[in-house]
Amino acid sequence: DVKISLPQKAECVKVVVRCRPMDEKEVAAGYDRVIEMNVKKGTIEIKNPKANGEAPRTFTFDSVYDWNSKQRDLYEETFRDLVQSVLEGFNGTIFAYGQTGTGKTFTMQGVKNDPDLRGVIPNSFEHIFQHISRSENQQYLIRASYLEIYQEEIRDLLSKDQSKRLELKERPDTGVYVKDLSSFVTKSVKEIEHVMNVGNQNRSVGATNMNEHSSRSHAIFIITIECCELREDGENHIRVGRLNLVDLAGSERQAKTGATGDRLKEATKINLSLSALGNVISALVDGKSTHIPYRDSKLTRLLQDSLGGNARTVMVANIGPASYNYDESLGTLRYANRAK
Ligand code: ADP
Ligand code: MG
Repeated sequence: DVKISLPQKAECVKVVVRCRPMDEKEVAAGYDRVIEMNVKKGTIEIKNPKANGEAPRTFTFDSVYDWNSKQRDLYEETFRDLVQSVLEGFNGTIFAYGQTGTGKTFTMQGVKNDPDLRGVIPNSFEHIFQHISRSENQQYLIRASYLEIYQEEIRDLLSKDQSKRLELKERPDTGVYVKDLSSFVTKSVKEIEHVMNVGNQNRSVGATNMNEHSSRSHAIFIITIECCELREDGENHIRVGRLNLVDLAGSERQAKTGATGDRLKEATKINLSLSALGNVISALVDGKSTHIPYRDSKLTRLLQDSLGGNARTVMVANIGPASYNYDESLGTLRYANRAK
């Protein structure tokens, strides 16, 4: 006999801001830092470099992480509980938002082969498999999928045929899903890391400029955790949680780059899905909205069952500290502020 346990937990959205250190070029060029952070209070100040004497603007978030922050601390303080709740059968989503070059991929993936610089994705692998190795009377099935949304088209990063485009479908029993998306059963950290590496390699295939391509597409790594538990009453209970790890397209406004034609069309689509995401999250946080606009983009539709309801969300808004990033950093702080 099989019983499905339904999660019973309040909806929860957490927004944190992370500011990367100045890079070598910025230091060499002598840029001023326009960001001040109070890590204890969770506040961040941004100063307009062109308006001398104007008071800086202050924002408050659930947490803020400055240029000294450690990957491990972010994981322990901000991500671990969400991943743990997925092990318990809830859905969860972690987003990295921000201008290109501010640390989204650093936060999600980190630096390969340096354990101290591992991002949330590899840290979640360790967490999940460690939990499984310590569990009793429970059987776990871990599956991984990896996809990309580029110009509102979905590509399976684990498929042999990288030219195929996938469709979103909906079924009353399982909700929204990607038709024909491949998924791999993984039994260890090594195996799931391998899946991630294959997807990362495919992500850059066909892209003439990897950085440009990744800055214009959303990458979503999906871990499905199924647990079958033999309870004392002699019945098997099954629960399923889904963890979405999302490295969003760069949030930079495209007008500045002077894009025209196809490039401008592409830019409009990127901004559309990021603003659709902002609208969904702020409607959820608001709590009074009767209509959550999930249908406005592929990204929000795909994540529909993992945003709101019993699901947990963490948004990491990444910014750079230098004066020439002022406009974009302020834009990111405003976006993040609306989402909390
Ligand atoms: P994005 O994915 O947002 O375009 P990246 O993650 O590629 O940005 O980061 C840009 C560069 O800055 C990379 O070389 C990365 O290693 C470095 N970087 C980003 N965040 C940090 C950080 N918190 N500490 C140290 N280096 C960082
Ligand atoms: Mg990136």
